[in-house]
Amino acid sequence: MLDLQALEKRIASRGADMVMVSDRVLTTKSAAWSLHGIRAEVVFIRNDGWTLGVTKDLAGSAYGLYPSLWEAWLELPTCRARPIIKYLAVDPAAARDYLWRREVMIECPECETVFKAEEIFYRCDPFPSYGAECTACGYMITESEWLVVKVLGENPETKGGK
Ligand SMILES: [Zn+2]
Repeated sequence: MLDLQALEKRIASRGADMVMVSDRVLTTKSAAWSLHGIRAEVVFIRNDGWTLGVTKDLAGSAYGLYPSLWEAWLELPTCRARPIIKYLAVDPAAARDYLWRREVMIECPECETVFKAEEIFYRCDPFPSYGAECTACGYMITESEWLVVKVLGENPETKGGK
């Protein structure tokens, strides 16, 4: 069990253990400020007591590093820890964290136009989702008509947990 009150005090006096300065790049609090001019606005608290500060802009990315391990979060300078579930209420997009995604070229069954689309497997869904609107004729292509011509790139566990 985390001692959230002690962590609140530690964060209030020393800041977070690490600060995210760009997508997936973490550094110390002092380097974040002196080298990047970044000060944390939100701090996530992991279930082992490790803390990560981040600006509001990047908070979704920080959340995506350990979606199943965050225990609490707080906003600076208030330093009042709240359960992580409350964070998902203010940033629902963060809950749409995905296991893998890939870019493909698909062919429209109506007009045979080939265009770029994305397959994505959200962590909270039972299966990957396929769906795209043809860029030429507007036809909605669903899974049963999903005709992959070419795979452009795969991106497994891009924002996965541990
Ligand atoms: Zn079409």
